[in-house]
Amino acid sequence: MSDLTVRWGSLSVLDTVDLVMKPGERLALIGPSGAGKSTVLRLLAGLLLPSSGDLKLFGNKQTYKRIDQSDPPDVRLVFQNPALLGSLTVEENVGFLLMRGGRLKGTEIKERVMSCLEAVDLYDVADKFPGQLSGGMQKRVSFARALINAPDKERDSMPLMLYDEPTAGLDPVACTRIEDLIVKTTQVAMGCSVVVSHVRSTIEHCAERVVMIYGGKFQWNGSIEDFRQTNNPYVEQFRSGSLQGPMQHIEH
Ligand code: ADP
Ligand code: MG
Repeated sequence: MSDLTVRWGSLSVLDTVDLVMKPGERLALIGPSGAGKSTVLRLLAGLLLPSSGDLKLFGNKQTYKRIDQSDPPDVRLVFQNPALLGSLTVEENVGFLLMRGGRLKGTEIKERVMSCLEAVDLYDVADKFPGQLSGGMQKRVSFARALINAPDKERDSMPLMLYDEPTAGLDPVACTRIEDLIVKTTQVAMGCSVVVSHVRSTIEHCAERVVMIYGGKFQWNGSIEDFRQTNNPYVEQFRSGSLQGPMQHIEH
């Protein structure tokens, strides 16, 4: 992002911000509700364009939304809820894009789906429907779906993986499972990732670098080690959950 602004009416949710991600980097995006975290993910997912300034993905300036792009960048979003299609089997859910593309043979699609399911430790579920699985297993299926490569993006593909609050509302053990899955999924996909999260363990397990967003700006940006120690007032307030500090209740 360079000099990038997103405006809703008179409100600048992102106000002339700059950010560079390195290949393979794992980033956590933090900040209070309403600060603009989902807006950043929406930009990266191609659902939204900047009001002004530049957004480049894999070096290419984004001038169209994803739906209007003929050669879209490889960006994959894992939703907070698994968002599986209930009338399709697990195999059909994970292989959906490949089946719809119609370019690969059925046996090859099946092979790819099975290897993605194995990567997230799911066995013997390919023929089941989402409703027959536990919530945790459904979540694993949604990660497997994010691992599927588009047939024309075989070699040198380095996807950008996006996770929007993947561990919100989970117990600590379930959190750890999902965090391991995020790290593994990002590794298996050989990509970079942006995780939006308030959960301390998720930030610490899943990211190398933390970006704090507030008031339309990236207020702080540093390594996970610095995040633990810095006395930056925004980060200190986030770490301690204090009511005192530069971040006050946002209500738009
Ligand atoms: P977060 O994910 O950090 O909670 P969002 O990115 O969802 O925050 O939203 C940031 C701000 O932008 C909020 O004040 C929200 O009301 C506003 N906003 C988001 N989408 C729209 C929209 N389509 N129209 C108007 N305002 C919006
Ligand atoms: Mg949000």
